[in-house]
Amino acid sequence: MNAMNPELPSSIPVLIAGGGPVGLTLSALLAREGIAHLVIEADEGYCTGSRAICISRRSQEILGWVGADAPLVAKGLSWTGGRSHWRDTEVLHFEMPAEPSQRFAPMVNIQQFHVEAFAHQAAQAQGEASRVLWASRVVAVRPQTDGVQVEVDTPQGRQTVQAGFVVACDGGRSTVREQLGLQLEGTQYDGKYVIVDVVQKTQRPVERLAWFDPPSNPGSTILMHRQPDDVWRIDYQIRDDEDPVEAVKPENVLPRVRSHLAMIGENEPWEPLWISIYNAKCLTLPSYRQGRVFFAGDAAHLVPIFGVRGLNSGLDDAANLAWKLARVLRGESPDALLDSYSTERVHATRENIAYGAKSTEFMAPPNFAYQLMREATLRLAVSDEQVRSLINPRQSSPITYVGSPLNAAQAGEWADDRARPGAPAPEALLQGQGAAPWHLSGRFGQGFVCLAFGGAGPGLSDAGVTVLEIPPDIDTLGQAWRRYGLRRPDEPALVLVRPDGYVMGRWHGPDPAPLRAALKDTGVFA
Ligand SMILES: Cc1cc2nc3c(=O)[nH]c(=O)nc-3n(C[C@H](O)[C@H](O)[C@H](O)COP(=O)(O)OP(=O)(O)OC[C@H]3O[C@@H](n4cnc5c(N)ncnc54)[C@H](O)[C@@H]3O)c2cc1C
Repeated sequence: MNAMNPELPSSIPVLIAGGGPVGLTLSALLAREGIAHLVIEADEGYCTGSRAICISRRSQEILGWVGADAPLVAKGLSWTGGRSHWRDTEVLHFEMPAEPSQRFAPMVNIQQFHVEAFAHQAAQAQGEASRVLWASRVVAVRPQTDGVQVEVDTPQGRQTVQAGFVVACDGGRSTVREQLGLQLEGTQYDGKYVIVDVVQKTQRPVERLAWFDPPSNPGSTILMHRQPDDVWRIDYQIRDDEDPVEAVKPENVLPRVRSHLAMIGENEPWEPLWISIYNAKCLTLPSYRQGRVFFAGDAAHLVPIFGVRGLNSGLDDAANLAWKLARVLRGESPDALLDSYSTERVHATRENIAYGAKSTEFMAPPNFAYQLMREATLRLAVSDEQVRSLINPRQSSPITYVGSPLNAAQAGEWADDRARPGAPAPEALLQGQGAAPWHLSGRFGQGFVCLAFGGAGPGLSDAGVTVLEIPPDIDTLGQAWRRYGLRRPDEPALVLVRPDGYVMGRWHGPDPAPLRAALKDTGVFA
């Protein structure tokens, strides 16, 4: 793609180091805000090999803000649940929360390079604001008081760019992190998984499939996911005494895959596409802001693949940062708003790490005690339904920003906690008389939205807030008023939703004064 490289400007408001899924999604979000920026990507194009495949509902919503949801859903394979087996017995059949009228499935399986392509195309569709420099590498980063000097190795030679802000989206081995002398903190697990993608036709439904100690590979744990274009993702744990270099050699991988496919009755011809090896890490920077440099995605944190929180949480980083950067660059908010990016997303990572660590300890027990506990649980799960919830693989979901400085204080009693300040704004299906049904989440993603329940909404355009009235006659399913914590369908209340689809505050009654005050007090408005 470097034949199409734009000329390197001498200065740019935002420079994004790394054009993986997080950098390219941030690029699309900034382009939608009209913020000029430059993405520097070391590779010549999108990623290759076995990487993320499970894209969460929240990520689909974020990609939807820039119009990248339609191709994703059309190409991807949606799923809602899965099955776990112990030896040759099914011990769990789980379903994730899903509604017949939902906008997006809880999860869609699709190769990571498609996500990158769709995000990049969405950025390009916004016009001139977004530019990607392929086959170019950030090699030096020098923070200054009013900007950041960045040196880039391009096919035309080394060049210097003066950036207003830098966002490091340059992955687990981040050059920007290294340049600033920062280190990830946390733990990594020894247990190793071989990751194999194979091409094989199948009629099986799209589900997450797990086998513990299967007859095909005694002692191992095997995960399987379908991907588009007749591709299986197969992950299996290797023994502690196995040499990882030997373990990924085709002569060692293929017999295990063959044996497993035969055991589950998948008899169509197959061939391998990619083979790699993986071990789980729970690592994070303690802060995602260093002056004018921000960290997002794998450059900021590495979380285990079990529970699929890597790419998915990276897209949430991008969603959180894009609107804040845009407001500060437009002079609409003080610089301090950007501090909340780090506060909120470091909190989210710590939660993701806690969930991810639990999943990892089950999928790849770190010692004999964990191994024994897992075996006991699986054995009990055969006959005891209560125990089955313990082996339910909890998948990625958006994290509530508990304690965020942006959360407005909540007054009064609310009937439901789901829309408390700091929580991701709940979805609802609405329908006006004679009109087509529409999803509330489709109205989020750009600018502040005030949901006005129970009567005429206040005028808030001077505050840059779009008011969305939700009278009872469009909330015929009762999803909105119930999920936002009202006691009856016509109860007057205002709910302020942030540009990233998070609840900032909610107030009983129709008076917008406390909402206006919250926008000032929390430091969102300059
Ligand atoms: C086997 C496997 C399965 C996974 N499955 C899932 C899943 O199902 N769901 C999920 O959410 N996550 C999953 N993940 C995690 C997911 O792949 C990562 O979290 C995701 O790739 C992070 O995206 P990123 O953009 O932050 O970093 P990356 O994807 O690593 O992208 C960083 C980019 O920066 C570029 N770069 C690096 N250095 C420089 C430099 N100095 N200058 C310019 N460019 C540079 C790189 O070329 C790369 O394109 C999986 C990971 C693995 C390994």
